Amino acid sequence: MGKWLDRLHSEISETPYEGSSESAKRGDSILSTPTHEGGYENSRGAVEALPAAPTKRGPTARIYRLIRAQGDEAHADAWSADTIGAFIVRRDAFLRRGYGTDDADDLAERLTLRDREQDGRRMCVECSHLGERGRCLAAAGGQLPDADRRLEPVPTILQRCEAFGLRKGMT
Ligand code: SF4
Repeated sequence: MGKWLDRLHSEISETPYEGSSESAKRGDSILSTPTHEGGYENSRGAVEALPAAPTKRGPTARIYRLIRAQGDEAHADAWSADTIGAFIVRRDAFLRRGYGTDDADDLAERLTLRDREQDGRRMCVECSHLGERGRCLAAAGGQLPDADRRLEPVPTILQRCEAFGLRKGMT
């Protein structure tokens, strides 16, 4: 088990963090809050569009990859067994939602960084109310009065949601 964890950590640590020049220029962190109107408001108040669902892209497109500084922070020291376990559970959750292997790795790594930064925001993919078809069951049930009952939230946006409930198996 120890050797396996060491190998996994080694493989994770070798992931390059090139990032996008645009995100680096903006100095983005893991950010953005759904406006529930199709756009996403980042920490500077600007609204930007993000993919609403897994899309077919070129093999080199890594839109969720952390920029280099973020990657360095995420791997500033060795990952504990709990950190690796959480990473695996989250990566699997993204894979089940249809994200590709690279995207699932990158998104799970974003959540690792989120934890390290003690950022209290969550992604809908971590929420027990996210239905298998992508609908928010809390919104459908009227628990989010400001949201459309047909809300299909982007599961990869960090946000604070009053109806969030931790999905079983997640940490
Ligand atoms: S309750 Fe909130 S966090 Fe949970 S799926 Fe719905 S919008 Fe996302």
